[in-house]
Amino acid sequence: FDMFVLAFVERLFRPSYRKDDFVLGKKLGEGSFGVVYRVSLANKPSSKEGDLVLKKATEYGAVEIWMNERVRRACASSCADFVYGFLESSSKKSAEYWLIWRFEGDATLADLVQSREFPYNVETLILGEVQALPKGLERENRIIQTIMRQILFALDGLHSTGIVHRDIKPQNIIFSEDSRTFKIIDLGAATDLRVGINYIPKEFLLDPRYAAPEQYIMSTQTPSAPSVPVATALSPVLWQLNLPDRFDIYSAGLIFLQMAFPGLRSDNSLVQFNRQLKRCEYDIVAWRKTVEPRCGPELRRGFELLDLDGGIGWELLKSMVRYKARQRLSAKASLAHPYFDREGLLALSFMQ
Ligand code: ADP
Ligand code: MG
Repeated sequence: FDMFVLAFVERLFRPSYRKDDFVLGKKLGEGSFGVVYRVSLANKPSSKEGDLVLKKATEYGAVEIWMNERVRRACASSCADFVYGFLESSSKKSAEYWLIWRFEGDATLADLVQSREFPYNVETLILGEVQALPKGLERENRIIQTIMRQILFALDGLHSTGIVHRDIKPQNIIFSEDSRTFKIIDLGAATDLRVGINYIPKEFLLDPRYAAPEQYIMSTQTPSAPSVPVATALSPVLWQLNLPDRFDIYSAGLIFLQMAFPGLRSDNSLVQFNRQLKRCEYDIVAWRKTVEPRCGPELRRGFELLDLDGGIGWELLKSMVRYKARQRLSAKASLAHPYFDREGLLALSFMQ
């Protein structure tokens, strides 16, 4: 109850906006559930390019506003800075939800991974300077390790708050230029199990390229949670039982895989990998046995990178990309994995 009073009071004292306050800029994205623009405040012409982002969303916008409000209070550093969300119903046949965030930066992880420069382009972003050390597997591994640590840290924040994202993919991870870290965006498919918001999974929202093999986040045996926020005391039990957070871990494992293997970074090659893995009954060790003997340099490089330091990277990948949710590590346990024992990028910059 207190939480809701607090939320209400906080909301009263925050600036509130309406449609006419914004000047629309460049379109950043368009999905089936909304359009995203870079915008600026009408009364603040100094911000010429637009220091905000606007999503005009369909009916799912209501859930996305709820999730962003919750993240802002509970684990703000995990996601893009949320400013405000409201129902916009003037001059429209159907209502729209408008969501406003701070503009975090130009590049998503998808943009960065697709570049020929990856992962050195990320190193430059994080360290803010060009490295003088020789390029090579060891250095690439440290950069990828640093990115994975940031993603898992953000995920741990969400999961500790009771939120499962369900659409973790490079397109939904943005590089925040201010904090020089990766943050999660797009909570449109997220679910908040502790209060039963958006409890009934909308499978059609899930991206099949990054989705874990389980169809439903919770087993179909679990009774539907009430749609009003009263299930708080009950939900942690369900959480323990079903480990819905491990859905995101599988997706994060696929991101790790794509960063390690240049040959798996394109959409087509990821789709092909998913097909091969399914044929191996989701046993990634079996997959390795079938592809490694006859693989080209684009795949071999990935195995070499993951085999560094006694294969500790491969060990972590194996414990994230698993068929059974309960056999996957949690975000917190992943962060404690020995793969992260070595200092990452920061150590590299001190070595100069
Ligand atoms: P969609 O539902 O269309 O996938 P997203 O929330 O993922 O909507 O946003 C679409 C795109 O807009 C992102 O891929 C990213 O390029 C950009 N974007 C979204 N939020 C921000 C932000 N806070 N800062 C900068 N760019 C953003
Ligand atoms: Mg998205």
